[in-house]
Amino acid sequence: MNNKIKIGLGIRTSESYLIERAYDLFKNKTIDFVEIVINQPKLKKAISDFKSYKIPYTFHGPYENCGVNIADPRKEKSNISNIKGAIKFVKELNGNFMILHPGYLENPKCSREQSLKVLKMLSLEFPILLENNPFYGWKNEKMFFSTPKEIRNVVPAYCGLCLDFTHAYTVSTKLGKKPEKLFKEFLKIKPLHFHLSGGMTKNTRESPVYLEKSDFNFNLIKTIILKSKIKTLTIETPRKNSSSLEENIADINYFRESK
Ligand SMILES: [Zn+2]
Repeated sequence: MNNKIKIGLGIRTSESYLIERAYDLFKNKTIDFVEIVINQPKLKKAISDFKSYKIPYTFHGPYENCGVNIADPRKEKSNISNIKGAIKFVKELNGNFMILHPGYLENPKCSREQSLKVLKMLSLEFPILLENNPFYGWKNEKMFFSTPKEIRNVVPAYCGLCLDFTHAYTVSTKLGKKPEKLFKEFLKIKPLHFHLSGGMTKNTRESPVYLEKSDFNFNLIKTIILKSKIKTLTIETPRKNSSSLEENIADINYFRESK
C-alpha cells in the first residue's frame, strides 16, 4: 500500500543548489515531489534553479525563521508583504497552494483573531493551506490553531489544512487523547497535504529526530494518509548536512519500509 503515498522532501530556497541531487532522487523514484520552503527575500536565483528541473513542487511559505508571525498585529504589514512576495514566487513556479503556519503568542498583542484576519485577506489572493500547530513552540510560547476544533472554524472557508502528524502527536499527548482518535478528527477536516518528521510520543513539544529513532506508529500514519483523498506527504528530516540529501533518503526509505 506504500506506493500509493506520494513522498516529498523539503528544500529551502536558500539551498536551491540541492535541486540537482533531488532531481536524481525523483528520476529513480525515491521521491515524488519536492516541497520548496521559502525562507529568503531574494528569490530570483532560486526561481531559475527550481525552474530548470521538471519536478512536481509543493510550497511552504515563510514562517518564524523569517520573522513571520501572522498572529502579530504589530507585524501585519511586514507579514503580508513577505507572504505576498512568497505567493509571487509560487505563481512563477506554477504552484497551486502555499502552506502557512498559523502564528503564535510572541507578545501580548498576538491573537488568533489577528491570524484569522490575515488569513481572510490572503485567501482572496491565493489558496492557502494552514498547518496545524503544536500547543507550544520551542520557547514554550503558546501557539494558535492546534486542535481540530480550532481549525474546523476556518477550513474550508478561508484555507485548506496541511496535517502535520508530528505536531498532532504533541497535541494528543498533551490532551491525553489517543493519537488515532485525534488523527481521525483531523481527517474529517479533509487535509490536502501531510507533513511528518520523527519525534517521541511522550513529548508535548516538537523533538525532531530521524524516523528510525522515533517511536511514532508509522503504520497508523500510512493508514490515515491512504484514507485521505490527497496522498502527498512531505517528510521533514532534521538535516544536519546542508550539502547532501543522504539524511532525507534514510528517513524516506525508513518510512516506506516501516510496517
Ligand atoms: Zn511547516
